[in-house]
Amino acid sequence: EKKALEAYRGKETVTADGVKKILACNIGSPDDVTAALEHDAEAIGLFRSEFLFMDAKELPSENEQFEAYRKVATALKGNPVIIRTLDVGGDKEIPYLHMVKEENPFMGFRAVRYCLANPDQYKVQLRALLRASAFGDVKIMIPLVTCVEEVRAVKALVEECKAELKAEGVEFDENIEVGIMVETPAASLIADKLAQEADFFSIGTNDLIGYTMCADRGNDTISNLYQVYYPAVLRSLKNIIESGVKAGIMVGMCGEAAADPLLEPVLISFGLEEFSMSAPSILRARKTISQWSKADADALAEKALALDTAEEVKALLEANAR
Ligand code: PEP
Ligand code: MG
Repeated sequence: EKKALEAYRGKETVTADGVKKILACNIGSPDDVTAALEHDAEAIGLFRSEFLFMDAKELPSENEQFEAYRKVATALKGNPVIIRTLDVGGDKEIPYLHMVKEENPFMGFRAVRYCLANPDQYKVQLRALLRASAFGDVKIMIPLVTCVEEVRAVKALVEECKAELKAEGVEFDENIEVGIMVETPAASLIADKLAQEADFFSIGTNDLIGYTMCADRGNDTISNLYQVYYPAVLRSLKNIIESGVKAGIMVGMCGEAAADPLLEPVLISFGLEEFSMSAPSILRARKTISQWSKADADALAEKALALDTAEEVKALLEANAR
């Protein structure tokens, strides 16, 4: 099997009817870029910047952050690098930030909420990202968005940072894209509105499944509910992707579901453009994508959407796996 996949190395990612897709890699540190490129990643679809913060004893400085982002941007040689701003809280704890213990951290003070409440600290990261954008195609991604206000607030901070850097004579990409993770039911429900604010979407199915099904990904007792195959999740994905496509923005997915060969034809049907995953899945995904035309994928997705249970959906997708 592994040998057969080698045939896909160095090839473009295209569907059976010739539609170009982007196969990207998720990384947690600049060191992961080596494996991403070895496995033929065409882009970085998610750089989880929180690992820079979790591995440190205090907040990494603007220069430390800049160096890490620049390294990735340079290594990708002009291919897209989507860097997610600090996604702290929930399951991700950073001791030196001394965040207050909460009853329900997954619904609490986390990610973009924390960052917007600490704008001076957030601007350090945004400045580092802007500076790195002079060295490649760096894009900024906002985690855990639930409303338009958050996107506008982050974009206003980005503009402040741009003005500062300009005054300092520091280079950056004037047209840097600012996109969002779509990983909450709220964001899914207003995907059409968010698509007017964001330069791109990346769907975080890890959180989206959890928040949609009210099922913690780490809780074995209810793991039957934590599945992408539920009709509620499929409808959500369809709405997000179609809203982004309609607005003309790039729609990708960086949650685990992007690497699910059963789901990939459904995502092709909905119009997903970029699939971002861990490095070892990339060649396999290129093969799966190459085996589906839009028409075949549409026929399968239509059947899947008509079903009532996750079990039926999964069985259908298994019976039609290529
Ligand atoms: C997600 O939620 O799908 C995602 C990619 O982000 P994380 O797993 O880091 O929460
Ligand atoms: Mg997430």
